[in-house]
Amino acid sequence: MRILIVGGVAAGASAAVKARRVNEQAEIIIFEKGPYVSFANCGLPYYVGGEIKEKKNLLLVSKKLFKDRFNIDVRLNHEVLRIIPEEKAIEVQNAESINKEFYDKLILAPGSKPADLNIPGSDKPGVFTLFTVDDADNLKRSLEDVKSALVVGGGFIGLETAEALLSRGIDTTIVELAPQLAAGFDPEFSIPVERHLREKGMHIHLGAAVSAIKGAARVEKVELSDGSCVKTDLVVIAIGSKPQLELAKNAGLEIGERGGLVVDASMQTSDANIYAAGDIVESLHLVSKQMVRIPLAGSANKQGRVAGANAAGGKLLFKGVLGTSIIKACDITLARTGLTEGQARDLGRQFFVCYSPTFQHAGYYPGAKWMICKLVVEEYTGHLLGAEIVGWEGVDKRIDVLSTAIYANLTVFDLENLDLAYAPPFGAARDPVIMAGMIASNVIRQEGRIITPRQLDELRQGKDITILDCRTQEEYARGHVEGAILIPVDELRKRYQEIDPDKKVVIYCRVGYRANVGFRFLIQKGFDAYNLTGGYLGYIMSIMG
Ligand code: FAD
Repeated sequence: MRILIVGGVAAGASAAVKARRVNEQAEIIIFEKGPYVSFANCGLPYYVGGEIKEKKNLLLVSKKLFKDRFNIDVRLNHEVLRIIPEEKAIEVQNAESINKEFYDKLILAPGSKPADLNIPGSDKPGVFTLFTVDDADNLKRSLEDVKSALVVGGGFIGLETAEALLSRGIDTTIVELAPQLAAGFDPEFSIPVERHLREKGMHIHLGAAVSAIKGAARVEKVELSDGSCVKTDLVVIAIGSKPQLELAKNAGLEIGERGGLVVDASMQTSDANIYAAGDIVESLHLVSKQMVRIPLAGSANKQGRVAGANAAGGKLLFKGVLGTSIIKACDITLARTGLTEGQARDLGRQFFVCYSPTFQHAGYYPGAKWMICKLVVEEYTGHLLGAEIVGWEGVDKRIDVLSTAIYANLTVFDLENLDLAYAPPFGAARDPVIMAGMIASNVIRQEGRIITPRQLDELRQGKDITILDCRTQEEYARGHVEGAILIPVDELRKRYQEIDPDKKVVIYCRVGYRANVGFRFLIQKGFDAYNLTGGYLGYIMSIMG
């Protein structure tokens, strides 16, 4: 059996080694158009920033190791030009010639390429992308005499690249077309990230497109659609990626509505002899049950493994994706899994959201820092539809627990009962995930009635309501929701008659715990009360920035 693989990085390399483990007899060849196989694209920003010091650390498995350990033939600088499905053949070009190679099974894993910024000046010296090891080397080399840089795009790669440049002492600007950074998140989650980056010295232009890159011999300035102009020595374009579908399209393989290659759960394309994996394919979203194309390394690796196994005669299935992802922007971390609130709304799902600000570990243990977790919960059933977390530490483990919960179809009633590891340096007796589950469970059990910051803002537009701050005088004095009256929770039993019984009451404290005590008291006294989910911390994150 002859298995040919197009592309030798995340999906292609995984496919190749899995195929070998399944089938010792197969002849397996990887064709990679670039000069490197199995490199860590996700590590490139950290190589530019200097955390990863040596290029060799990005090169995960060498051509020689592929041969020695797996008996896999890696052909570097070999570009596959065409698939000829009726002959079960591909045309491959190297420096010397174009050759035909025949396959029994073909695995497509050519990944994506950076989306183009088709504006005047985008081909000027000093304009870069960051997608390959060569890109990273070119960018790194050019940084020596650079004082300022501008990154176009505030998504994952843009943020990581901007951080890398800033960490090297370069005056760095991010320009993002959307009104927020990290546009895959609900808007309030981008606010702490933006604030933190500005505090670190990053310049950020939101809601503006780059319209031209100007300069005589090389980049000197960038013009924006809002009429402003930013002087810069260098530009990195990070406006997303496009799947490399030319080979698949020309071979007549089925392309899906989301613009990716259609594969079944065994990663087989519409041609039974051709498998595909990675950035080019569409996958089933495990919550929305719709096909999506979410280009991430974890999915590419797993899909490659499945494609490799099945091409070699095995039987594996890829079940789908949740889009679980995480990003570090300087010191702050942002992570998500499943559906955002915006996506759940667009899909017409019946849901509610709740916020829970907690410390990442026991508050009394040194180094406690806030994280804010938002759950998107299916109404009535309590199934978890999605989660987002922003914080400083421990975000990674919580998002992974929540992702596992969604995968396993757990409800928020399961979350509040999870048996998670606890000792003061690592977590809390009520872990952030458990707290989030308790808050959401209380809502469904109707023990809690919550209102989000956005709903509060909508509610107060038309109606005369009471906003009740139940924190201390000192906390209130440091900042409060506009129009809020103060009755500290410990005085509420004595002073509740000061509250107008005919108005809705929205009660809040710092994070929601004291407000819940006050809320339970008020509803038992007959008030139409609501607890502001996420408390004042959630409010300032969502509304005030
Ligand atoms: P790739 O890994 O891109 O590999 C495709 C390979 O195919 C390329 O080497 C290409 O040269 C080769 N190829 C293309 N066409 C041909 C052809 N015709 N003939 C021969 N070879 C061909 N994802 C995360 O989950 N977390 C992260 O932190 C993260 N960070 C990232 C940072 C950067 C800078 C980049 C660029 C991506 C990052 N990603 C991250 C995304 C992740 O790297 C991709 O989703 C993943 O690599 C896709 O795997 P793939 O195998 O489909 O494509």
